Amino acid sequence: MLKNTNLEEWDRANFFHPSTHLAEFARGNLPQRVVTGGKGVHIEDSAGNRLLDAFAGLYCVNVGYGRPEIAEAIAEQAKELAYYHAYVGHGTEASITLAKMVLDRAPKGMSKVYFGLSGSDANETNVKLIWYYNNILGRPEKKKIISRWRGYHGSGLMTGSLTGLAAFQQKFDLPLDRVIHTEAPYYYRRPDLNMSEADFVAHCVSELEALIAREGADTIAAFIGEPALGTGGLVPPPEGYWPAIQAVLDKHDILLVADEVVTGFGRLGSMFGSDHYGMRPDLITIAKGLTSAYAPLSGSIVGDRMWKVLEEGTDRFGPIGHGWTYSAHPIGAAAGVANLKLVDSLKLVDNARDTGAYLKAALKDALGDHPMVGDIRGEGLLCAVEFVEDRDSRTFFAPAKGVGAAINTALLARGVISRAMPQGDILGFAPPLCLSEAEADEIVGKLKGAVSEVLG
Ligand code: PLP
Repeated sequence: MLKNTNLEEWDRANFFHPSTHLAEFARGNLPQRVVTGGKGVHIEDSAGNRLLDAFAGLYCVNVGYGRPEIAEAIAEQAKELAYYHAYVGHGTEASITLAKMVLDRAPKGMSKVYFGLSGSDANETNVKLIWYYNNILGRPEKKKIISRWRGYHGSGLMTGSLTGLAAFQQKFDLPLDRVIHTEAPYYYRRPDLNMSEADFVAHCVSELEALIAREGADTIAAFIGEPALGTGGLVPPPEGYWPAIQAVLDKHDILLVADEVVTGFGRLGSMFGSDHYGMRPDLITIAKGLTSAYAPLSGSIVGDRMWKVLEEGTDRFGPIGHGWTYSAHPIGAAAGVANLKLVDSLKLVDNARDTGAYLKAALKDALGDHPMVGDIRGEGLLCAVEFVEDRDSRTFFAPAKGVGAAINTALLARGVISRAMPQGDILGFAPPLCLSEAEADEIVGKLKGAVSEVLG
């Protein structure tokens, strides 16, 4: 299919790649890859490599690559009606159907879904809705949003502020006002090794209570969190974390946003992470798994108590002043409908649960005794291996050593794509939800070789 032999040169000369060392790339010191195809859990590139993608792109190609059902739905929609907007009551069969399919699968108490294009813009929508809500309720001071260190919520202005990772803020004049951060529910990195999980949950709660007391509950509108931390380290919460946090939020009348961009539609082995961990969100952010990234589409699912106030707001102030040209884009919506049908017919949520448990057990068997493997954790098909200099004292490697990145590279050389998470020596795995046990074995076998090569 590839006819252009200038691609590599044109790439370095013209293409501004996200999350890339721009100068090194332009100088030719960073590798490039022209991806040409994909089938199941594999991608192919122009150099003839076939790689097992154990991170599903950016944990988004949940149904796997090359599904004709979605490609055909997109083509049909494009031929019939490539675009119409969704303003003032307009919709298409695809967008109206998808809204119903999303609500049918969502946790209890959710009312409507607004469609955007990316996880970042969906969280920007959420922030606007939260501010609007408190203005309608006559609480103009109640506007701050609490996020967690190591949370990832996007890389826009507000969403980059909500993200609790330095790399996404430094030199961008972020975070903006109105965003405050609290403790990450990261038991492996607890401040005191003697803390039990229950002690650590109590610590997270008391940190949150102290922050609320310091800022004043009447200034805090919402708390945002991923059910299980994603880009910040792939960390399932300690037992009892969400019910304990939810109780604090309820006490102070603070809304909860569940950012399910990664966890929505099956990744944890359940349809939504909110149900998995007992969260009662007012807003749920969805993206990636909504279309398995076959087309860009995201959503903000709005809960009943907010929806009532939004309706009241429009009764008082007229139509809501929010919308994008491409909201509920028909091609994205058609991809979403076909994708969610496949998630059901292939029983991918069950497979994420079962093959995820198999993968985690295999990782523990293969690497659990290694003196530099500190933690192996995961839920469903979201797992991580964290490397440390010394397991007993839990001494972390100096970041400059780049241990996680080196293991990632050694694994890639063996034909498996993982992700070196941006903060810490953490190797992440979030393969397509159709992963088989044989493919899980291949990932683990090759990882074992990569770890021995780098760490001995
Ligand atoms: N929220 C979470 C939990 C994410 O993991 C991401 C992206 O990885 C986003 C939001 C932002 O989504 P996008 O990159 O589509 O803007």
